[in-house]
Order: sequence, then C-alpha cells, then structure tokens
Amino acid sequence: MSCERARELLDPFIDNELDTAQADEFRRHLDECDGCKLAYFNQLTLHTSLKNNQSLYYRPTNDLRKRIRASLLQSLQQTVTCVAVALF
Ligand SMILES: [Zn+2]
Repeated sequence: MSCERARELLDPFIDNELDTAQADEFRRHLDECDGCKLAYFNQLTLHTSLKNNQSLYYRPTNDLRKRIRASLLQSLQQTVTCVAVALF
C-alpha cells in the first residue's frame, strides 16, 4: 500500500468503515511506515477530541424542531401522494 492510499484510508479506518482485508493491509502499512503511523495517531487524537467535546454539539431550539418536523411531514405527504398516484 502506498502512503498516499494509506492517508486516504485514515478516516475510514478510524470510523471502522474498511473491510477486513483493507483494514489488515492498512495496519501492515502502519507497522512499516513511521510517517503514516504518526499521521494516524494525530488523526485519531483529533477524532477522539472532537467526539468527546460536548461544546461542539448544538441543541436545537423549539422553533428549529418545529420547522424540521413540518418539513419532514411535508416531504412524507408528498411521498404518500406520489405513491397513491402511482398505485391508482
Ligand atoms: Zn506510509
């Protein structure tokens, strides 16, 4: 695996999105490449910091909740109408 490919797979690896073969190949590359190993640990540190930083999460206001619900309901009604038209 090239370093360029390993850097592309950093985030998918951290997010457990790789299949077993890709993950094994990625790990083997990290065992052999100090540069990518450092990049991996830096990315992992950033990922963990962001995941655990509750101040980054935003609790929606009641108004925003209402608007989202209304939008979802409208979208659902349009879907039901389309399905009904297609069936009858
Ligand atoms: Zn590398």
